[in-house]
Amino acid sequence: MLTTVLKYIEEKHYCPHCSGDLKLCHAPPVHVGDGLGWGSEFLFVCLNDECPLFIKGWDYIENQYGHVGSYRYMEIPNSKESYNMMVVGKDAFTGSIVDIEAFKLQSEQFKRQQDAIAALDNCVEQQSLEPVLTLLLDDSVSSKNRNRAASLLVPLNDIACVEPLRNHTFKDPNLAQTVKMAIAKILANHFLKECPYCAELIKVRAVVCKHCQRDLAS
Ligand SMILES: [Zn+2]
Ligand SMILES: [Zn+2]
Repeated sequence: MLTTVLKYIEEKHYCPHCSGDLKLCHAPPVHVGDGLGWGSEFLFVCLNDECPLFIKGWDYIENQYGHVGSYRYMEIPNSKESYNMMVVGKDAFTGSIVDIEAFKLQSEQFKRQQDAIAALDNCVEQQSLEPVLTLLLDDSVSSKNRNRAASLLVPLNDIACVEPLRNHTFKDPNLAQTVKMAIAKILANHFLKECPYCAELIKVRAVVCKHCQRDLAS
């Protein structure tokens, strides 16, 4: 759906009645006329209140059907179909305008995730912790990819992973456990431990924390 929207965002459609550009909107759930779906999740709609079709529509519908309403011009994406859609008020469609900025942000996040997933293949070779952290710290990534990222923590053996991972709350208890065990292994590999008082990394052999000066022997 995301790629579809991004493609539609790039498209320009113009209203034949007012030459204004059509706005990308979420399609209403049913075809107002016959109860059928639009066959598309999105519609391009002329939302110009000065559009002649929209202005003249009020009188036309009043005279023809005896109720309040007008028409908005719309096109169905990827088809040659266009309609004059009956609307009951000025704001009938404004609530369903596609939030383009939100979609772009979502798409940037999606791209970052895809790049990170692709980078997992040779991140150990390149000693690159970044893709692993990108995926582990993003709760919207699939558990398959996050588990794969977690499995690379120990091979990477990068002490820099400890702080960001400790600061993240993992909702998935299995992943939380995997990460916890990986951190323990990495600390042991570096002959380090976390001070139980101030959480700074110190030597395993230390009896006094060099950061907080607390006695670790007691
Ligand atoms: Zn128009
Ligand atoms: Zn300490």
